[in-house]
Amino acid sequence: MALVELRDVVKTYPPTTRDGDPVVAVDHVDLDIHEGDVFGVIGYSGAGKSTLVRLVNALEPATSGRISIAGTDLTALPERDLRRERLGIGMIFQQFNLFSSRTVAGNIAYPLHVAGRPRAEIRARVDELLGFVGLGDKAKQYPEQLSGGQKQRVGIARALATAPRLLLADEATSALDPETTHEVLDLLRTVNRDLGITMVVITHEMDVIQNLATKVAVMEQGRVIEQGEVFEVFSRP
Ligand code: ADP
Ligand code: ADP
Repeated sequence: MALVELRDVVKTYPPTTRDGDPVVAVDHVDLDIHEGDVFGVIGYSGAGKSTLVRLVNALEPATSGRISIAGTDLTALPERDLRRERLGIGMIFQQFNLFSSRTVAGNIAYPLHVAGRPRAEIRARVDELLGFVGLGDKAKQYPEQLSGGQKQRVGIARALATAPRLLLADEATSALDPETTHEVLDLLRTVNRDLGITMVVITHEMDVIQNLATKVAVMEQGRVIEQGEVFEVFSRP
């Protein structure tokens, strides 16, 4: 059984003009993401990649079709249960989305506070995560004092805080220069390999797919037009 399964998933948005047509952001998509995969989703802007991520993260309901995570059908769950499912999914973003008024440690601790974990446990976990992402000396700094790559390390540590089984990365390196991109990709590879966390990596950059992903789906106008092992998809004529 796949960890994440999409079956005939459609997401439409209401027309943007009064007599326009509805926008079909995700158009009859089937995907199987298995435990341990680094699953890349590549496509141009507007292809439906971010919408797909919001559906998997249960931030928005699908219009039709079925999305299940570890056999649990998200499309059938009430909001209270969806909140619990989301705790098992970490998310990192292009613009990092850190709290500027909180320290590095405070940002990483945040999901643990929300989850109501005891203080001593939070401290130990934050300490461990700081070490894991190589920011042991930055605990008391504020995000504005960090480089882009360091900010994304904080984003990764925060996403891992609740020990998710799935990490969703939405254009996670698109705001970084090439060298920093490679550092962050190395860290993400370690997250997958050493922590065994399954990843979905959304990007418009071929380089990211070739450096990190094992499988890939190519999206165009809401559809998955090709999917498979990275080396297969990109060696087809
Ligand atoms: P990508 O992440 O690949 O750039 P998106 O998922 O953001 O693509 O967008 C796919 C399509 O859905 C685009 O046509 C976009 O304009 C439309 N879309 C995305 N979100 C919304 C929304 N909240 N309301 C209306 N249209 C949307
Ligand atoms: P903020 O002021 O941004 O809320 P704090 O400095 O109060 O951040 O720390 C928030 C959380 O991070 C606390 O739960 C604390 O236990 C933990 N923390 C703070 N400093 C460290 C550190 N050096 N190592 C490990 N955990 C830390």
